[in-house]
Amino acid sequence: MRGRSLAVVTAASVLAAGFAGVQAASAAPVCTVGWTANQWATGFTADVQVTNGGAAVTSWTLSWTFAGDQRVTNGWNATVTQSGNVVTAASTGWNGPLATGASTRFGFQATYSGANTAPTDFAFNGVPCGGDTPATPTPTPATPTPATPTPATPTPTPTTTPPPAEGCVPTAICDGFENQAGSVPAGNWAVTYPDCSGAGSAAIDRTVARSGSVSLRINGAAGYCNHVFVRNTQILGAAGAAWYVRFWVRHTTALPSAHVTAVAMRDSADGDRDLRFGGQNGALQFNRASDDATLPEQSPAGVALSAPLPVNTWNCVEYKVDGRDGTIETWLNGTSVPGLRADGTPTHDIDGQWLNRTWRPALTDLRLGWESYGEGADTLWYDDVAVSGARNGC
Ligand code: CA
Repeated sequence: MRGRSLAVVTAASVLAAGFAGVQAASAAPVCTVGWTANQWATGFTADVQVTNGGAAVTSWTLSWTFAGDQRVTNGWNATVTQSGNVVTAASTGWNGPLATGASTRFGFQATYSGANTAPTDFAFNGVPCGGDTPATPTPTPATPTPATPTPATPTPTPTTTPPPAEGCVPTAICDGFENQAGSVPAGNWAVTYPDCSGAGSAAIDRTVARSGSVSLRINGAAGYCNHVFVRNTQILGAAGAAWYVRFWVRHTTALPSAHVTAVAMRDSADGDRDLRFGGQNGALQFNRASDDATLPEQSPAGVALSAPLPVNTWNCVEYKVDGRDGTIETWLNGTSVPGLRADGTPTHDIDGQWLNRTWRPALTDLRLGWESYGEGADTLWYDDVAVSGARNGC
């Protein structure tokens, strides 16, 4: 009896194992969805990963119903539309083809009030995904089945993620400095003096913050040898990509006439020389260290098309640097600044000088600080820094 039942069990498990593969096509969910929301009082962004569990497709839609009053305002990597409580995300040309088992991600921003419950009724190309409900915080990095029973390598502990900074696109790396423990920038941030150290210094500040209670303070001094930057090497890196940089900055002293730099980014496609964001003639500008080109041109008309950086208030600075075509766009407090836009067509007073050569930046770091080349001292605070492949907004 005992022997027989054992045999049955064995046979049954073999059968089951055999069936698992065969049945997968019909029994597997049509899709699985990972849903990660990053919310604040009145809105949220969601990062959605969709995995095709069925036959290969050349385009797809993912739809769902919101239980509350969530309203989508914009999306990325998919066309996200809403009708009543029903939302449909449609693939864009490049992420439409999805083989069996392949996944892709898209995101969107929305408003809400009351509860923001994650939806559960996903449908892929109109067919209910079925089976599993989406996990809210997805720790699903689609681990391929390990080939050999290797001795339990402990799960790769995700590197400690700081509390999300406010208003970040989910795919962004965001840092509001809230995880800084000491008074000296640490962790992903390191103080650096590119040329020589002097009166410039950097500190973690717990008295001024745009969100939370912590920010980065730069005590910027005049004079060439007083440069100070706080460098993050985690948040840039992929060449040939468009990067959206967003940070809030507050400062005490209007930008001087002389050239100053507040943010520097090493450009590995330009001899590791910096792309600099700072000011000149009292207005914001980009400067390319390799050839000293400025955006805008520093003619009075060019300067007038840029903008000063208001003092004693938090300013939201966003810019896109596109390594694919060398274009730049900049927003100050949500408004695009015409003088800080290199659009590929030379325009006198703006990007005529900037476009004097082919430039395809590959930015590899982000440094926040202060660099004056003569006059110009300032105290600055930075907070809620984000870098991502999509615009973060303010
Ligand atoms: Ca903060």
